[in-house]
Amino acid sequence: MDAVIYIRWSSAIQSQGNSKERQLGDCRRYAAEKGWNVVDELIDDGVSAFSGANIETGKLRSFVDNVRAGIWPGGVVLLTERLDRLSRQGWDELYSWIKQVTAAGASVATVDGGRMYEPGKRIELSDIMEMIIKGELARDESSKKASRLSKSWAAKRERIGSGKEAVMTKRAPGWLRVEGEPRRFVVIEERAAVVRRIFEDTVNGIGKATIARDLNREGVKPFGRASGWHSSYIQKILRSLAVLGEFQPGKKPRDTRREAVGEAIGDYYPAIIDANLHAAATVAMAGRSRRVAGRGRSLVNLFAGLARCKACGSKMTFRGKGLKLRASGKWVQEDYLICDSYQRGRGCEVGHHFNCATWQEGILDAVLIEALQDRHFASRDEVRPLEVELAEGVRRLEAAVIKRDAVLELLVETQRPEVRTMWDKQVAVVEAYEGAVDDLRKRLVAARGAVSPEEHMRRIRAMRDKLEDEDETVRFTTRSTIMAAVHELVMTMEFSADPLGVMIETTAEETVFVTLEEHGGSSGPVVTRIAASA
Ligand SMILES: [Zn+2]
Repeated sequence: MDAVIYIRWSSAIQSQGNSKERQLGDCRRYAAEKGWNVVDELIDDGVSAFSGANIETGKLRSFVDNVRAGIWPGGVVLLTERLDRLSRQGWDELYSWIKQVTAAGASVATVDGGRMYEPGKRIELSDIMEMIIKGELARDESSKKASRLSKSWAAKRERIGSGKEAVMTKRAPGWLRVEGEPRRFVVIEERAAVVRRIFEDTVNGIGKATIARDLNREGVKPFGRASGWHSSYIQKILRSLAVLGEFQPGKKPRDTRREAVGEAIGDYYPAIIDANLHAAATVAMAGRSRRVAGRGRSLVNLFAGLARCKACGSKMTFRGKGLKLRASGKWVQEDYLICDSYQRGRGCEVGHHFNCATWQEGILDAVLIEALQDRHFASRDEVRPLEVELAEGVRRLEAAVIKRDAVLELLVETQRPEVRTMWDKQVAVVEAYEGAVDDLRKRLVAARGAVSPEEHMRRIRAMRDKLEDEDETVRFTTRSTIMAAVHELVMTMEFSADPLGVMIETTAEETVFVTLEEHGGSSGPVVTRIAASA
């Protein structure tokens, strides 16, 4: 008889018990034992079975269509590892699907339990439920295996850290070398400095091609065997998690891309980039690809690309004069925004010099509360693992609910005491998973940066304080975050000399006018919210 193998696996949930190759191997061996002739192998990713898409529209649907079209006159058997590979929608869906398949003239067989559901034979509902429950138990077992696996990685990492064991792999990023006995990773300092400079340049708004050109001009040697720096290698470094110390175990099947296996391991390599700098570079790269491309080297002008002259529509250019000592003995920042057309003598008559520090203060007063959202304060390092954990928690909960319902059906049907015990246990399991999922959701909300309005005000003030921080990294991180946020919110920003002020229109459909007001010999910015345009 002809056989079609069906495999469902998830690349997201990597574990020993869930590999494509293992499932395929088991099915092929089983088919060989039975003397079946494997004519096709259908492989689905893990997601579709949850929604039932694989049964309704996917590869299994095509299989049923083929059976109905009579392309296997000698009969065909659909072989899968376990019944729950076919559908995660519940036993009733699966029961009716198997009845459909057998009615169409095909058989369904499982490696696990050696079951076979054949055309013309009665299919027991209780048998289907029992198989699903067994499948769930097997899955719990395999997720335990996965967690044991990650524990053994952790133990290994610890032994490496304490020098009791050599590094796991000879693969080392270009800025590290493997040295000594036992083998350890050692930072090649001059190369690490190049990597840091690449990140800092990126935060400063310099593009990958320019960075590569600068490095080549300065005669900085590339890390690998390449003849010079290329923007693709700069990109690779900027996307690398190894700079933060993370290692992603993986394997590279012949002729294909390297694929990830298991969880990334933190603190595996020596970290050479601070997490904040890494985050700032990511923000800067995202920003460049939108509208802040081409901004100046050091983010001195937060409104570059936004600020325009009201009179002629030209951009406002930044003229930096640095700190100047006033007659009053006070140091003031003498940086100005001036109409580019006026500055270059291209026709505009409005030559007012807008003091950067003063107007920046007023503009930020006007827009920052709206511009800075929770996500601007969120820690990616914290959010990402929680998202993964929540997805896994939800998956476990859904599986537990399916199992609980199946056990209940079984209980109703059999009235057996051991099934009763199983049901009580399963109800408790579902409750525990529900609690865990609730807790994860709360932690995720907190990690995503949601806080009270008072706390939001406080953290905005704290962020503004860091605009002029002494630490270059802190300053650039802050500036790029604020810059990206303001660019997202503000649609237009017009500088006008008469009346003196800055008119801002936001995507929140608000128009704001920032003016100056004299009080006690000095002038400070005042914000007037004109009207929310309907
Ligand atoms: Zn102008």
